[in-house]
Amino acid sequence: MGSSPNSFELVLDAPGVRGRRVTALTKDGSSLTEFMQSTVINRQELKEPFYVLDLGVVMSLYEKWTRSLPMVKPFYAVKCNPEPALLGALAALGSNFDCASQAEIEAVLSLGVSPDRIVYANPCKAESHIKYAASVGVNLTTFDSREELDKIRNWHPKCDLLLRIKPLDDGGARCPLGPKYGALPEEIAPLLQAAQAAQLNVTGVSFHIGSGATNSGAYHGAISAAKTVFDTAAELGLPKLHILNIGGGFTSDPQFDVAASAVKAAIQTHFSNEPGLTIISEPGRFFAESGFTLATNVIGKRVRGDLREYWINDGVYGSMNCILYDHATITCMPLACTSNRANAICKGLRTHNSTVFGPTCDALDTVLTGQQLPELQLSDWLVFPNMGAYTAAAGSSFNGFNTAAIFFHLVYSNPN
Ligand code: PLP
Repeated sequence: MGSSPNSFELVLDAPGVRGRRVTALTKDGSSLTEFMQSTVINRQELKEPFYVLDLGVVMSLYEKWTRSLPMVKPFYAVKCNPEPALLGALAALGSNFDCASQAEIEAVLSLGVSPDRIVYANPCKAESHIKYAASVGVNLTTFDSREELDKIRNWHPKCDLLLRIKPLDDGGARCPLGPKYGALPEEIAPLLQAAQAAQLNVTGVSFHIGSGATNSGAYHGAISAAKTVFDTAAELGLPKLHILNIGGGFTSDPQFDVAASAVKAAIQTHFSNEPGLTIISEPGRFFAESGFTLATNVIGKRVRGDLREYWINDGVYGSMNCILYDHATITCMPLACTSNRANAICKGLRTHNSTVFGPTCDALDTVLTGQQLPELQLSDWLVFPNMGAYTAAAGSSFNGFNTAAIFFHLVYSNPN
């Protein structure tokens, strides 16, 4: 990506993004929302929902990560948003990848990323996916049960292993992962011994304090517990562990600084005497959430007294599945009100108590209620910011509304 005084040239040369639609924003010209406005004005026939991915945001987040946690190598969690343009940009920036399935590994390898930049971070893998990982040289994975060790011994015995432990504190997470994954303290020694007996190579420890964590103090407890596993392995005579995987859970808001400080302090306390330690992490939400903005079109309207009810062409079975699965709180505003000048005008408009429905014939498909919105008309656009994490990735085509068909634009705003 290069720049000249007034414009920015976007050159994406990773294979996965080559040939994708790329629009460069000019520094003096445009905000993201002005770009969206010009998109819909210039393409009057456009009525389908679309995303805009601002690569400037991704770049500045990557820079923020490396500045705040220089000792922690990021492995972007593909599950959060597997959009190839995002993967390609992160690959070009130097990120590694956390994949949970064969399809995710394929997506990352297709970008030209080498297999040693992938951790197969699913503690319970299908046999066929393990065989695939072995065949393409993905040689680092996680486990938390004897049964998983049996599968790995059979199908990928040369794979390096990280013992996934269950943190005792779930970090006040929006989506705790502890109920499903992670060895309990009393299971750790038996699992290490089982790996030793099977002549498998345990090289480190991983954990995840839960996605959307609000209590960064949880990193302290989890890193301390990881150190206990390092010590137990040494006592049992295993080769020295040397990888600490601190999982995900990071957000890109100011809470990140608190989390980064907590991680650094805990590493200093518990791992300062571990020469040769490699520290990795699996951030998903941190890199994906804020760069994506979703524009949806108003396809229906009903007036009941002061209540305004609108139907838009994406919903809870599509991008807004995050309301159900990710326990997300989302916000929207009319595209017409998003630029600074228009915002001032919109502030003076009368608003109505409004409900926003998704397009499917299911009452569950209700995106927002109790919103104060200015009066909207059919074909107006509603914009949802911060829609990159656990949104389109888990959408369905229920009732024939296909989330996967939502297209997007790439833009590059000046990150500085
Ligand atoms: N790593 C693993 C194993 C996960 O299961 C997840 C999310 O579920 C992530 C990383 C990404 O977490 P986050 O988006 O909170 O960073």
